[in-house]
Amino acid sequence: MAASLTKPPGPNLTTRQIPGTLPNVDFDFTPEQRQFVAEVEAFLDEHATADVADPTRENMAQIVDTPERRAFMKKMAERGWLGITWPKEWGGRDSDGVYEYLLNEALAARGAPQIGKGVGIIGKTVLRHGSDKLKKEFLPKILNAEVEFAVGYSEPNAGSDAAAMSLKATKAEGGWILNGQKIWTTSAHFADWYWVGARTDPDVAKHFGITLFLVPMDHPGLTVKPIWTMGDERTNEVFFDDVFVSDDYVVGELNRGFQYISEALDLERFTMFTFSPIKARLDLLVDHLRTATRDGEPLRDDPVVRSRIAQLATQAEVARMLGLRFVAKSAKGGAAPTAEASEYKLFATEFSKKLADASMDLAGPGTQLRVGTEDAPMKGRAESTYRYTVLDTIGGGTSEVQKNIIARRKLGLPKNF
Ligand SMILES: Cc1cc2nc3c(=O)[nH]c(=O)nc-3n(C[C@H](O)[C@H](O)[C@H](O)COP(=O)(O)OP(=O)(O)OC[C@H]3O[C@@H](n4cnc5c(N)ncnc54)[C@H](O)[C@@H]3O)c2cc1C
Repeated sequence: MAASLTKPPGPNLTTRQIPGTLPNVDFDFTPEQRQFVAEVEAFLDEHATADVADPTRENMAQIVDTPERRAFMKKMAERGWLGITWPKEWGGRDSDGVYEYLLNEALAARGAPQIGKGVGIIGKTVLRHGSDKLKKEFLPKILNAEVEFAVGYSEPNAGSDAAAMSLKATKAEGGWILNGQKIWTTSAHFADWYWVGARTDPDVAKHFGITLFLVPMDHPGLTVKPIWTMGDERTNEVFFDDVFVSDDYVVGELNRGFQYISEALDLERFTMFTFSPIKARLDLLVDHLRTATRDGEPLRDDPVVRSRIAQLATQAEVARMLGLRFVAKSAKGGAAPTAEASEYKLFATEFSKKLADASMDLAGPGTQLRVGTEDAPMKGRAESTYRYTVLDTIGGGTSEVQKNIIARRKLGLPKNF
């Protein structure tokens, strides 16, 4: 008897039940989710003015560093969009992470400030591990867009190996005294609070002697000095000189800071490296190739150009899917999936760099003109993304670090450092 083409094999088996297959594979968003995106787009049409939204700042567009950007976040807070996944008891909506993803991607596509740091990193870690005092003090402020944070893990001798951090915390009456230095602290020059790791126990294995603190950025013992990146944005060195922090501002348990930092980094690797700006840059390149010519011949007819752009479009789709897989795997309120965060961050940021490279190659020498040059190909976006996209493969953990995490956490290979 010929096999039926319409019936799945075996008695009563559906795709949902076949071992090893994906249940209910559906890559479309639901009508409710699409409705939410339409609401966000309408909000952006009204409020994402040029002084607030600037896609040419690339990934740094996410920071909330001006009064206008703060006012914009306040308007988002009024909509209740800052606590989408937070529990109701702390003012959130207890809703699905996919809405937070859709919101952040829509914001990022316009170069508008995003909800990553306060809501996604500090807020979620305080919700999971913070004391009631910290929850009461910080969660409402985050939800109302009244506070900005800087994150201090990296030091001159502790970058990829963040567990080697040596900022010294010495026990004092009622708190701790911090001395030493951090480096690459983005946002330190405008943030209100510093989320910072310090060594509280030098006599145990390095991962087990670190504690997380919250320090007000206007503390007189802190000195902030600028470092300018090759992407034209500012990051900072921060020096600590006898900075007293009360016991109340220890986050979670003493000496468990590295565990919290690792969890927070999983969140950072996803929420702070959005996909939509990469897609927007791919669209910009495709639009350029549609009409541009070289030696009188349309670029769109060149087989090398066609082959390269088709490959890029396929890789962009892989990056998008890795992002969606992270969203699907993130249990609501639970810790973010580590290997998936690294897979997404590694692939998306390396692809982004490859795309910038291809934009310079395919659109030719005019791409070297500075961003904003009206008659440069793609108005000069290629040269600035060529410089900027390198940074995304370093910040939040380098590509090599992501590969190490995937090798260990996903493939079970031994540790190399
Ligand atoms: C734009 C930007 C913003 C940043 N913002 C912040 C911030 O706000 N807060 C903060 O704390 N940090 C921040 N950082 C710092 C960032 O996290 C570090 O730069 C990063 O972790 C790498 O550390 P490093 O610069 O010390 O390089 P290193 O760790 O010295 O690495 C140097 C090179 O060696 C490689 N390498 C290191 N170890 C290994 C290994 N075990 N196996 C294979 N290769 C290895 C690295 O991949 C890299 O190529 C930011 C960085 C950038 C670029």
